[in-house]
Amino acid sequence: MFKKTIYQLLNVFFLLIFTDCSPSSEKINVTAKKQAINLQQDKENRKINDTSALEHLLIQQNLININSLDSNIRVVLHYSTANNFLNKPLYDGLTNCYLPCEVALKLCNAQYYLKSQFSNYNLVIFDGVRPLKIQKQMWKELNIPLKQKVKYLANPNELSLHNYGAAVDVGIIGNNDLLLDMGTPFDFFGEISEPKKEIKHIENGLLSKEALSNRILLRTVMTKAGFRMITSEWWHFNSDTKASAAAKYKLIE
Ligand SMILES: [Zn+2]
Repeated sequence: MFKKTIYQLLNVFFLLIFTDCSPSSEKINVTAKKQAINLQQDKENRKINDTSALEHLLIQQNLININSLDSNIRVVLHYSTANNFLNKPLYDGLTNCYLPCEVALKLCNAQYYLKSQFSNYNLVIFDGVRPLKIQKQMWKELNIPLKQKVKYLANPNELSLHNYGAAVDVGIIGNNDLLLDMGTPFDFFGEISEPKKEIKHIENGLLSKEALSNRILLRTVMTKAGFRMITSEWWHFNSDTKASAAAKYKLIE
């Protein structure tokens, strides 16, 4: 009898886990439900799209190509090109953004909330999953004072949520296919990037009201979808705490 009860409890536990990221979950809004139906399509795309060793690794880890769920979300991975703080490509030519299923669905919801307000706007992903070996390379090669470095880059010894695909760096593409002004570009290592200093920079004129309202729009749709902002980078959003990411997702080495 006791064994049976334990078995039933375990059954409920696993059902809860798998239902969390299934298309039939009540937690996921209608748009994400529709998009999740394309999971089969994603599996087929995986066979076609594995163009690099890194992409192959991400597919093996069962991460989902975000564009298989929502083709309108734009993906511009700065670390795949030389347009980043190390001025060289780090991602083996990767052009797709792969995320754990649960994180990908949250991002689809954020996109849904954004388009509910501005139908011609789209989220743009600057970075998603970031293998730990790349985190180590960034940490080693980024030559700025440590005090500043820790603000904008996670020490690989402490891991980053990006290493699980449990954090995303995002902006918004608006009318005429242009990035909305957020006051700084992505990965600008300076105080104006920091949400906690926004009031100060509005007062001293370094941050415009328009840029602030664009940041607030981004934050509103991301937090409504279950992400959490951080106080040092307007573009970075966490899907989980480190403890929950470690429990739920694979560390991408
Ligand atoms: Zn980030």
